[in-house]
Amino acid sequence: MQHIIDRFFKYIKIDTQSDPNNPAFPSTEKQWDLAHVLVKELKQIGMQEITLDKNCYLMATLPSNLDYEVPTIGFISHMDTSPDFNATNINPQIHHNYDGKDILLNKEQNIVLSPDYFDDLLQYKGQTIITTDGTSLLSADDKAGITEIVTAMEYLLQHPEIKHGKIRVAFTPDEEIGKGAHLFDVEKFGAAWAYTMDGSQIGELEYENFNAASAVVTITGKIVHPGYAKGKMINSTLIANEFISLLPSNEIPQATDGYEGFFHLHTINGSVEKTNLEYIIRDHDKKLFEERKKNIS
Ligand SMILES: [Zn+2]
Repeated sequence: MQHIIDRFFKYIKIDTQSDPNNPAFPSTEKQWDLAHVLVKELKQIGMQEITLDKNCYLMATLPSNLDYEVPTIGFISHMDTSPDFNATNINPQIHHNYDGKDILLNKEQNIVLSPDYFDDLLQYKGQTIITTDGTSLLSADDKAGITEIVTAMEYLLQHPEIKHGKIRVAFTPDEEIGKGAHLFDVEKFGAAWAYTMDGSQIGELEYENFNAASAVVTITGKIVHPGYAKGKMINSTLIANEFISLLPSNEIPQATDGYEGFFHLHTINGSVEKTNLEYIIRDHDKKLFEERKKNIS
């Protein structure tokens, strides 16, 4: 276990935050830092056909140890970390034998991780939990996935008595900004099927996905001194409010599950003159998805 924690800590110390505003591949140079560390490590544990392409996609092979043909399978995870919150100077904390109570992440800043707020925590009572000190992301998404894959490959290399076919692994950049698959060379990867190690709960297997889009609604108003505003001022924040209430109030993430689609308003920025609404749109059904896009535009 300590070996896995050490490996995970080594990865999370490397800042790999991606940048949604940079069209380059990868979107941040620092993602190469982890890619280079992984190349070295994959060599060390004995992986073969290690390639790192010009867009920062890393692939490697664990050759088959069977004397007959079976399909090649793949395992994938992403190297970047979400740009939503600070991801530098990650300071991990280990909580052994979690007692189900509040976890004080940061005494100075009084940051508490509480099962009253995140009741998922209670599923891990009695287990070891790794958190941050509350001032950054942990970047377990998806360095936990990389740790799992590298450790599994290492284990299989050390235990040739476990029989397996050819296994391909890949580590990609820029997943968090929606570009992880953009320049992924499927043919070069050459797996009959593959699993992305990027889940949440232990034992969870996701085998299908929704259609996804985003929408930015910009409303322009007109600013006039409030004392002289009658019949003149156009308040874009109030129009935004109207717009929001025109969309179905029950088609939101917190009111849907399973295959039900939604409009998710995740950001509002506004003043009298200009208001921006940012939505994500999700639907499993392609036809309903197209209707949703039409409906908002
Ligand atoms: Zn992820």
